[in-house]
Amino acid sequence: MSAIEVIEPATEQVMAELPRAGVEEVDAAVARAKAAFPAWRGVAPADRGALLHGLADALAERLEELATLEARNAGKPIGDARGEIGMVVETFRYYAGAPERLLGQTIPVAGGVDMTFREPLGVVGLIVPWNFPLTIAAWKVAPALAAGNCIVLKPAELTPLSAIELEKIALEAGLPEGVLNVVAGPGSVCGARLVEHPDVAKIAFTGSTEVGRGIAAGAAATIKRVTLELGGKSANIVFADADLEAAAAAAPGAVFGNAGQDCCARSRILVERSAVDDFLAALAPRVESLRVGDPLDEATEMGPLISADQRSSVAAYVPDDAPVAIRGTAPDGPGYWFAPIVLAPVANSERAAREEIFGPVACVIPFDGEAEAIALANETIYGLSGSIWTRDGGRALRVARAVEAGVLSINSNTSVRVSTPFGGFKQSGVGRELGPDALEHYTDVKNVYYATGED
Ligand code: NAP
Ligand code: MG
Repeated sequence: MSAIEVIEPATEQVMAELPRAGVEEVDAAVARAKAAFPAWRGVAPADRGALLHGLADALAERLEELATLEARNAGKPIGDARGEIGMVVETFRYYAGAPERLLGQTIPVAGGVDMTFREPLGVVGLIVPWNFPLTIAAWKVAPALAAGNCIVLKPAELTPLSAIELEKIALEAGLPEGVLNVVAGPGSVCGARLVEHPDVAKIAFTGSTEVGRGIAAGAAATIKRVTLELGGKSANIVFADADLEAAAAAAPGAVFGNAGQDCCARSRILVERSAVDDFLAALAPRVESLRVGDPLDEATEMGPLISADQRSSVAAYVPDDAPVAIRGTAPDGPGYWFAPIVLAPVANSERAAREEIFGPVACVIPFDGEAEAIALANETIYGLSGSIWTRDGGRALRVARAVEAGVLSINSNTSVRVSTPFGGFKQSGVGRELGPDALEHYTDVKNVYYATGED
């Protein structure tokens, strides 16, 4: 078995080496999960809930250690990493309450009683990316376990360390052997094997639209359930009547958070034409003063990109003749640094406005009036998130209803809450994570009719 060298993107140094799993390891993990399933689904709901609470406690105890690991491996500011591991803990706590709330229905029918049950699927394959490694894993692992499934989790090769820790912590917290199995290896081998494996009932995937398309096609052969969280090119719509200071204060976090490597990034800033100059004037000092540097420095607001490949792919969107209106700063190497950049004005038809850059590059796109704002926001293959800034409440709701996206916020740049559904319209995905909705994607409904001899 060859080795995975895990690189720290802020230093370009190897921070860990581990064996690279292949098809054999995936098959063995699926077999362990399959063997563990009958006992795990049979654990009493309150006991399954207690185990998830125990896991949340164990993760909370290790929060600082996990946050540091994630900050180093994914290159994210330590403050952000703490927030993310905090959300991991919250996610396990939220779904710890779910096993006792997986309610069925009784449905009035003739001649008997009809009832429904929410049954676990069996072995589920979870494939996650490198941008929010443990957070996105937890969004899948927690509801899958709560519903009584066993898991094979494949982290991204670039960031496998926190998932490997999760597996250890789960065992220490009392999760039975075989219920959660982590396999670290390449997506094209390990991910692909999970997708084709006949004993895997479902794939939950977060990553690129391109790989998601292949997973949906591959899953068709065995009619696997599939949920997909894919790319985005979300609009941050700023009307001239908005609190421009507040909109400009929130805009950098909305697109440069996680160095722009965020599927929810509001990378198209649509600004009503009469407000463009004022908005850019308010935005500029906030971008120029963003503290880009060492992820472990408490003051850091943005870290490096994940890899050299990612940096060259982002750089390709900023050619020498690009309309750079604002440019922040970044350290010189080593490290995969890239200064935050705002391009303005950009037409929605240009490549930088159409494609997911997945780096700290924002496009400011002027618009005239509400109808054009909606049309531009929707002129994309994606539909994940977005924001609307206005003081007109009726307009805020009209626009929120008209924008084709799964997760919108008004006068805010936030996308994600543990208790509310998250997911995409159009080519941004299928299905929802978090909130009560996620549980539906880790269960099948069984309908049972009991003839009682009545007429
Ligand atoms: P990706 O290739 O879609 O990877 C996501 C996950 O899928 C990783 O665990 C990857 O494994 C695995 N994978 C890759 N090929 C696979 C296959 N054929 N079958 C099954 N699983 C497979 O994403 P990426 O290469 O890391 O990033 C590329 C672009 O994807 C980014 O620039 C961005 O546009 C988008 N992206 C979106 C999100 C999001 O949150 N929606 C997250 C990350 C990336 P390995 O990486 O270990 O090979
Ligand atoms: Mg890839």
